[in-house]
Amino acid sequence: MMKNISQEIEKIKNELPQSVQLVAVSKFHPVEKLMQAYSAGQRAFGESRAQEIVAKYSMMPDDVQWHFIGHLQTNKVKQIVPCVSLIHSIDSVKLLKAVNDEAQKINKKIKVLLQIHVAQEETKYGFAPNEIVELAKNGTFDGYENVAICGIMTMATNTDDEVKIREDFAVARSVFNQLKNEIFIANPDFKELSMGMSDDYKIAMEYGATLVRIGTTIFGEREY
Ligand SMILES: *Cc1c(COP(=O)(O)O)cnc(C)c1O
Repeated sequence: MMKNISQEIEKIKNELPQSVQLVAVSKFHPVEKLMQAYSAGQRAFGESRAQEIVAKYSMMPDDVQWHFIGHLQTNKVKQIVPCVSLIHSIDSVKLLKAVNDEAQKINKKIKVLLQIHVAQEETKYGFAPNEIVELAKNGTFDGYENVAICGIMTMATNTDDEVKIREDFAVARSVFNQLKNEIFIANPDFKELSMGMSDDYKIAMEYGATLVRIGTTIFGEREY
């Protein structure tokens, strides 16, 4: 179905309180569609593949903020570091270090989120909730001068069972609170909770989401 992209963006923006930022997930959509969103005032776009974000970065206006939301291989970090304004999907210490190293080379400080795995699916990437708290307590995330750790990202289980979705968001919220109040307490950057997609963003906002990542509702089915 053809979507009226600017209308969809308007509709969603009217539902979001000021404290919640919309990331328009444009992966697998052509630049013409991104430009329709841009013309409607949208500036934050989410992409999940290194090659695609680099290509679109060179084609879109300079004031677009590019959010990387997919699984990132360490050998792709170098390509994307110059384009991104926020990497949502830091799912290992090795990746955090790789981003820090590449950012250092170009004298940049990159904003990142730590991805946690709360969903039932076993294939999802991310730190386990208890694991991330342990690592944080042990200082594992300290000392990376070229990254700013700005919060947590997660995905709920892909299910129609709202009870399960609520459970997942509640876990993410509780990990976020614990990290914020006990470990990152002196770090004013640590304030973002990225969760909620087309089917569950309204629920995610009840659990304190500050960034929602919405693709299909805005752009329709992905094209490639
Ligand atoms: C694709 C994707 C989204 C957007 O999903 P929709 O259901 O199309 O809104 C959000 N977050 C992540 C991590 C994604 O990979």
